[in-house]
Amino acid sequence: MRSQLKIAIIGSGFSALSNACYLAKEGYNVEVFEKNSSLGGRARIKQINGFKFDMGPSWYWMPDVFDNFFNDFGASVKDFYELKRLDPSYRVFWKDQPDDIPAKIEDLTNYFESYEKGSGERLRKFLDEAKIKYEVGMGDFVTKPSLSYKEFISINIAKKAMNLDLFKSISKHIRQHFKHPKLIELLEFPVLFLGAKPKNTPALYSLMNYADMALGTWYPIGGMNKIVQAMVSVAEDLGVKFHTNANVTEILTSNNRCTGLMVNQKVQSADIVVSGADYHHTEQKLLPKPFRMYSKSYWEKRTMAPSSLLYYVGLNKKLDGIKHHNLFFDEDFSSHAEEIYDTHKWPKKPLFYICCPSKTDKTVAPKGKENIFFLVPVSTELKDNESIKDLYFDQICDRLKKFTGTDIRPNIEIKESFAHTDFVSEYNSFKGNAYGLANTLTQTAFLKPKCKNNKLKNLYYIGQLTVPGPGVPPAIVSGKIVANLISLNH
Ligand SMILES: Cc1cc2nc3c(=O)[nH]c(=O)nc-3n(C[C@H](O)[C@H](O)[C@H](O)COP(=O)(O)OP(=O)(O)OC[C@H]3O[C@@H](n4cnc5c(N)ncnc54)[C@H](O)[C@@H]3O)c2cc1C
Repeated sequence: MRSQLKIAIIGSGFSALSNACYLAKEGYNVEVFEKNSSLGGRARIKQINGFKFDMGPSWYWMPDVFDNFFNDFGASVKDFYELKRLDPSYRVFWKDQPDDIPAKIEDLTNYFESYEKGSGERLRKFLDEAKIKYEVGMGDFVTKPSLSYKEFISINIAKKAMNLDLFKSISKHIRQHFKHPKLIELLEFPVLFLGAKPKNTPALYSLMNYADMALGTWYPIGGMNKIVQAMVSVAEDLGVKFHTNANVTEILTSNNRCTGLMVNQKVQSADIVVSGADYHHTEQKLLPKPFRMYSKSYWEKRTMAPSSLLYYVGLNKKLDGIKHHNLFFDEDFSSHAEEIYDTHKWPKKPLFYICCPSKTDKTVAPKGKENIFFLVPVSTELKDNESIKDLYFDQICDRLKKFTGTDIRPNIEIKESFAHTDFVSEYNSFKGNAYGLANTLTQTAFLKPKCKNNKLKNLYYIGQLTVPGPGVPPAIVSGKIVANLISLNH
């Protein structure tokens, strides 16, 4: 009887919430153990003096993944939050001027055409091809547990894979269609979400361009944490029990099986364990050495997605000149990418991102004030400190002033930062990574850390360091893949 099988899930990020819901629906007895005082992992919320900051994700892409999730439980997104499509999708600050990137495809092709003759039509073709990649990549491919390459050799899938440009880089692919440097940067930007340089990312991931330019950028009123609250509510209705301030210090084993978890010095027995904590932490810190799948040196050789310097800022007035999402591409893209992935240096002139959800949503800042989140992607091989964080904050404010004419520094009511050391202490993140393991060709599908332990029959892994990879939609899919695997195996 499934109801007698107890499943203990470590962590409460999107992958864990999704996994908990699917497992509970199958009839298992599910408990979630989260070390922090609130649920949602990297998508937690910080509330100070009427400002409500989403601490991590801010781009709501691939709305179909969220729709499918709630539909699987007889509900719909509308039951939990109001979703708004943003138009413009975002503002890009180029060296010479800011441009708004329109949501409507006709306006977008006109925008492309204004920079390069004939590129509007080529964009349509590029996106048609990207649509096929999206349908296959987010359909057949993404749902595989990727335990073996054999899952991908059915004739149908292999045939589809031929069209996916797995072995060509996205950088080359984009340059075959477009020449203008701004258009190239615009199409390469979504790859940054995947945590690798465009030159090392398979062209398969032009599916992200389809997600960006065709499916659109959306926003749940109330903030991204609304999704967390919605998933927790689905889980609780299905009987999932959540434990916060529940730090797991060991996965207990006996006779080549997990028997439970050590949580705050107390044994919590379980028949099956799923870890949604960072894979490296689960293996290197929670699991006895004989049962680890990967060595320390394996981890040292992985390409991690970047860490980030984050600032949560509450302004005591409104700020003109920015939109909800703002990308500062006013400095050289490739130099910053090299500093993140190759030289591992503090960037001289970083690109950065500003999210200002109070432009769309009255509920995230007090009236007349602005909620601003700054993100600077940086290498995971660095150690942050207060003076570094201050230095970059000043640089950001100077560049923001250059474009908006406003120095925000005298109007800051709240300012908190978050960087490598916080990712490690708050989430047990390997090297302070923000978005897990990069989606390079050698770290895609069955080449990623496996979602099932092959030495312990009842230990599984979910989240952004295993399949399908970083991002909220993949994390949700990861929870589903492993729930399916568990119901097949137990
Ligand atoms: C700054 C930032 C911006 C991002 N922007 C976007 C975006 O715009 N759009 C997008 O789609 N994605 C974005 N992402 C990526 C996305 O947020 C993540 O890929 C996703 O949330 C990861 O979910 P997860 O389930 O893998 O794990 P996590 O969210 O990392 O959850 C893991 C949980 O495990 C807990 N844990 C760890 N160790 C233990 C232990 N020993 N005991 C108990 N609990 C433990 C942690 O506290 C944490 O709550 C962003 C990420 C960051 C950090």
